[in-house]
Amino acid sequence: CGIIGILGDHEVSPQLVEALKRLEYRGYDSAGVATVDASGHLDRRRAVGKLVNLSDRLVHEPLAGHAGIGHTRWATHGAATEANAHPHRRGPVAVVHNGIIENFRELRDEVTRLGMQPESQTDTETVALLTAWHMGQGLAPVEAARAVLARLDGAFALAFLFEGEPDLMIAARKGSPLAVGHGEGEMFLGSDAIALAPFTDRITYLEDGDHAVIRRSGAEIFDAEGRPANREIQQIDVGA
Ligand code: GLU
Repeated sequence: CGIIGILGDHEVSPQLVEALKRLEYRGYDSAGVATVDASGHLDRRRAVGKLVNLSDRLVHEPLAGHAGIGHTRWATHGAATEANAHPHRRGPVAVVHNGIIENFRELRDEVTRLGMQPESQTDTETVALLTAWHMGQGLAPVEAARAVLARLDGAFALAFLFEGEPDLMIAARKGSPLAVGHGEGEMFLGSDAIALAPFTDRITYLEDGDHAVIRRSGAEIFDAEGRPANREIQQIDVGA
């Protein structure tokens, strides 16, 4: 339901939770964050119910890292359990998702045939599984994500984070809104500008079918045909 992503210059897990609080108005049943630390280690924490449950979890089991993604979930496929909460992870890939992957059953059958067992009931997890499979076949993170994005039907916004890649986030939008935020040596991602307001007022809205390869040096945006796309940076005033 709500997505946030940060490539920062300090520990990001408190900011991820802070930004998720700004998305609470959209409603949610569970929440989670994943980070990559300086040595490239990817890890996640998830909790059912209010965001305070997630922040309590983070107090007892902190997550280090200057790069991270976060999510508030409004379940569409699978009950509101910790196993179904985002980020979904398989191997080197963590994914958060708003919306619905319409053809997830077909994709889940495919990854199951490839020998990967889903651990959740969600449509989202198939994205993590398939991306991990492509990486296992030797594709780099960006190519693996692109190969999967090309397969997805439905209306969705997605963000990917990768083990060993503390300076990379991939974002994709088809139907559900997603905005890239530009900082000073930091980059942000949010399902709306309100979530990004504390961090930056310089926003690029992704257009339908776009995906973005985001690093601290900036975002490269590609259209539905995979061509580099020029999307303007807007100065917005949402009030922090
Ligand atoms: N369809 C996904 C799920 O049920 C995402 C729902 C959402 O937008 O939060 O987990």
